[in-house]
Amino acid sequence: MTHSYDYDLFVIGAGSGGVRAARVAGNLGARVGIAEERYFGGTCVNVGCIPKKLFVYASHFAEDFLAARGYGWDVAAQGFDWSTLLANKDREISRLNNVYEQLLSGAQVHIHQARATLTGPNEVDVGGRRVSARHILIATGGWPVVPEIPGRELAITSNEVFALPELPRRIVIVGGGYIAVEFAGIFHGLGVETTLIYRGPLFLRGFDDDIRRFLAEEMTKRGVDIRFELNVASMSKDNDDIRCALTDGSELLADQVLFATGRRPLSDGLNLGDVGVETDAAGAIKVDEQYVTSVPSILAIGDVTNRVQLTPVALAEGMFVARKLFAPPARTVDYDYIPTAVFSQPDIATVGFTEREARQRFASVDVYRSAFTPLRETLTRSNHKTLMKMIVDRDSDKVVGIHMAGPEAGEIIQGMAVAMRAGATKAIFDSTIGIHPTAAEEFVTMRTPVKD
Ligand code: FAD
Ligand code: NDP
Repeated sequence: MTHSYDYDLFVIGAGSGGVRAARVAGNLGARVGIAEERYFGGTCVNVGCIPKKLFVYASHFAEDFLAARGYGWDVAAQGFDWSTLLANKDREISRLNNVYEQLLSGAQVHIHQARATLTGPNEVDVGGRRVSARHILIATGGWPVVPEIPGRELAITSNEVFALPELPRRIVIVGGGYIAVEFAGIFHGLGVETTLIYRGPLFLRGFDDDIRRFLAEEMTKRGVDIRFELNVASMSKDNDDIRCALTDGSELLADQVLFATGRRPLSDGLNLGDVGVETDAAGAIKVDEQYVTSVPSILAIGDVTNRVQLTPVALAEGMFVARKLFAPPARTVDYDYIPTAVFSQPDIATVGFTEREARQRFASVDVYRSAFTPLRETLTRSNHKTLMKMIVDRDSDKVVGIHMAGPEAGEIIQGMAVAMRAGATKAIFDSTIGIHPTAAEEFVTMRTPVKD
């Protein structure tokens, strides 16, 4: 390794991807620097996956208290204290911030708590100081987008939702993606009157249609007010309320309006243009299959490249970059069969092709579908259902899509993803003994395909 630069690798952004790349590179003996302007651990740890999942846990208790009665428990919630949840969540996040910082320093990574911008192909300005590096890795993540509508400054995004001083009484959530659907479940579970507004005919575009419809029904059954083919046209302040003017001419009053209308790559302000790093129309940094940008010494991974916006993907990309640079050869990231879960209520999780995609891609497919009442619900009078679906390429007998809506779908589908990546056929699923009584055993007992 040449020592003519201050660092072998300088990473901009200590989020999921950046921390992984810096740590692995440091542990491989590279001289690594990292800049973080906001929080260690990035979006996932501070305003994403982790606090979100803690909120999801918090919101499940309402349902659990009700369910407990069917099992003979005489319980009633005495109330819910938002400030306790926030304080406990903040304590855990601070602990994680320290863990991330220690992981970096433990790998001998030199930490700069400052904003970094590019000043050349091998140079960055970090907090007013110029440092040079043989390789620069941009892992600056993304930022929520709020459409340009009158009154948009009244809205909050996922950045603010984790620190609201008070739990709202009524919330309007705009969008139909992961964040909108997850927060609709969270706020509803915490007792907030929740309205979800999505501009299209059915939310979660890209997921299997049966699962999308099923989730909409289950959320409605639980009491979320879901309104499709509608949008917020403008917002205005009305005393303490926010008045939302909707595209059908009606109005809604709320205490908070959460816009979950997507995220854009956080690439502006990095001085990319001057250094020659190309971006696309959405601001995503363009990279080749090895994450190299249009400037050979500069690489980019994670949300700033606007491909798969998931933490495990950013981690895998970070790992690849570190190994490629400092311990080649590295195994490339395989984007096939990436499992994903939406922590809605009920959870949904999926791996592989939707039925619609599979019908376009394969000559003939078999679809197995099962909707049932999970055993736990039989004593609860909840009327909550689970849906499982499996898609098989008839020619090869390979399972090419697995979808689930029901409790712990993420936990179940993670294992299914391993089987699918190993090329499991339907015959292998059929010959696998189930674990009884579980919901997951349904995936190995689906015998009759639904009619085409
Ligand atoms: P980030 O984690 O965003 O890290 C980028 C870092 O760079 C930040 O810390 C930022 O402060 C820093 N930075 C930016 N610019 C500069 C600069 N110029 N100088 C210095 N530092 C800079 N994914 C899942 O897999 N599961 C989930 O359950 C999940 N839930 C989510 C919930 C929410 C509400 C959100 C918003 C996202 C969620 N995600 C989830 C997505 C996941 O958080 C991202 O895909 C992941 O964090 C991307 O990692 P990254 O390294 O690309 O960027
Ligand atoms: P998504 O891209 O998932 O969804 C954005 C939603 O906003 C879509 O329904 C989109 O509609 C809608 N939308 C976009 N623009 C407008 C507009 N102008 N007016 C009204 N609606 C609009 O983004 P999120 O913000 O929910 O999340 C960002 C990403 O973070 C996710 O895609 C995911 O990769 C990641 N994430 C992962 C989680 C997990 O793994 N559990 C949890 C949370 C986030 P349309 O479909 O019609 O374009």
